[in-house]
Amino acid sequence: MKVLVDNKEIRIDGELAEEIRKRSGENVYLCYQCRKCASGCPNRQFMESTPTELMRYIQLGMTEEAMKKDTVWYCLSCQTCTARCPQGIDIAHVVDMIRIIVQEKGIKADTKNERLFNWLWMTILHFTGRMYEVALTGALNTFTGKPFKDLKLGMKMISRG
Ligand code: SF4
Ligand code: SF4
Repeated sequence: MKVLVDNKEIRIDGELAEEIRKRSGENVYLCYQCRKCASGCPNRQFMESTPTELMRYIQLGMTEEAMKKDTVWYCLSCQTCTARCPQGIDIAHVVDMIRIIVQEKGIKADTKNERLFNWLWMTILHFTGRMYEVALTGALNTFTGKPFKDLKLGMKMISRG
């Protein structure tokens, strides 16, 4: 695809955007970067790139950035972004598609524990139908070799009911 920037023709690789469109029916080129998705995202503070930036990466064919940033692994699939998008883009679905493509291609993310966090999150949801933060925290700490990391905070919370 070609676009005009400062009267210069620039070629953009639309392969990832097209792949996402085929799999999910979502057209990322409808995004006009209003940032409503990012401003409502409950996990944005932990992400290297916001959902808005993720959409821009895909639009510009910046596949590496879209797939290797931790955004998709910190996404909680809460659908807030989807509900807020004035363009009706199901952003959470786009994030799901990227997760699937990354897994299929066997791409190693530039992340440490985010992938594990996402896997634990989804596994707990799958088996219980809801999220238990205590179980998530306990499992994450155990799998990362720090089982007692949040024990002090946990005791404090329990003591306050
Ligand atoms: S679905 Fe993911 S990206 Fe969208 S608001 Fe929720 S956590 Fe953020
Ligand atoms: S809310 Fe929709 S249009 Fe706005 S930045 Fe996010 S994806 Fe783009």
